[in-house]
Amino acid sequence: MDLYEYQARDLLRRHGVPVLQAEVTADPLAAERIAQRLLSGHCPLVVVKAQVRTGGRGKAGGVRLARTPAQAREAAQAILGLDIKGHTVEQVLVSEGADIAQELYASFLLDRAGRRWLALCSAAGGMDIESLAQERPEALARVGIDPLEGVTPEVAARITAAAGIAEPLAGRVAEVLVLLWRALVAEDATLVEVNPLAVTPDGTVLALDAKVSLDDNAAFRHEPLAGTGQDVAADPLEERAHGLGLNYVRLEGQVGVLGNGAGLVMSTLDVVAAAGTRHGGVRPANFLDLGGGSSTEAMATGLELVASDPQVLSVLVNVFGGITSCDTVAGGIIAALGRLGGLGKPVVVRLDGNRAEEGLRMLDQAALPGVTVVGTMDAAADVVARLAHEAGERQAGASDPRPDTPQEA
Ligand code: GDP
Ligand code: MN
Repeated sequence: MDLYEYQARDLLRRHGVPVLQAEVTADPLAAERIAQRLLSGHCPLVVVKAQVRTGGRGKAGGVRLARTPAQAREAAQAILGLDIKGHTVEQVLVSEGADIAQELYASFLLDRAGRRWLALCSAAGGMDIESLAQERPEALARVGIDPLEGVTPEVAARITAAAGIAEPLAGRVAEVLVLLWRALVAEDATLVEVNPLAVTPDGTVLALDAKVSLDDNAAFRHEPLAGTGQDVAADPLEERAHGLGLNYVRLEGQVGVLGNGAGLVMSTLDVVAAAGTRHGGVRPANFLDLGGGSSTEAMATGLELVASDPQVLSVLVNVFGGITSCDTVAGGIIAALGRLGGLGKPVVVRLDGNRAEEGLRMLDQAALPGVTVVGTMDAAADVVARLAHEAGERQAGASDPRPDTPQEA
């Protein structure tokens, strides 16, 4: 999970990383009050920053300096609602600002291929770090970190030396590197990035920006992030699915998809998308892996969730029976649809594998209204795409204010 900057800054602060005071808000007037308070301290300026989970905010006009509370309000007004790479700004961070003498770059990230961690560090940080990495790769030091050794003061000194940072600054940067590493380990992060790691005219080193990604698989070891609107950007259906323990990802199409096994579901998405090219360009509406069990309970919850997406016009259940046999799955589908009283949307079922014949016979006998059983994955994808397309046409026809308009055959 990627954190917002304000969450990442709080996290780093808890581990002793030097971070300036800041507060988050969705209201320009509140931004003015926060700025008033911060400016009445010792800081010469405040920075108003878009809180979106993407980088390059500075270049997109999402970071503005303000020297008066009124300027902070205006900056917040200008930034709130901005679209930055497809993310709408719903909150801004109002932070103490620093005078910057030099911008450095520092990060730790997981190097999966190398089975270790990687430290990246540069004396030329700031907004152009990506082009720096491309044009002058030697200016971005890369130092492998042994996960068992970690970042000791000695390792940190090696990193600053590789980045060409000289004493006395190097020692202060190395201290921050050790703290960043401790934060990464303690919080089970897979990425900690600070850009800029700024040096002020008096030589203080400050993390002015922070990007942290946490390992979701370790979430159980940590307190949930405190009341932070961390789900602001999440899709409501995905949130519900997550609460139900379903492995669901919402996409943009019209064909709901359920299957067992991530690989099968992924290839089902491809096959549905391909079939859609023959049926008005319909596309898969979601990924949903019911997992190995595919119990009645999981099937009912999954079907109901997928069909509750207003974009969904038809639903495909694609199951390959392995340990879970197809008759169990068929029983689950029959019980689930019975319990839900149908879905109100056409359902296509394709079963294959262990005890497929028995499963198909059960579905045949149940003769569920609105359910079509199709023998192969390709044919099932074709039928479900056609049904979605037809339903879409009917909807468009029904909402057409001019019933006399000639309809396409
Ligand atoms: P990003 O563009 O999304 O990475 O956002 P940053 O937080 O890194 O801000 C972009 C740029 O704004 C930085 O590289 C700095 O040049 C500038 N900036 C951010 N905070 C401050 C600050 O406290 N003082 C000054 N003078 N500039 C800042
Ligand atoms: Mn940055």
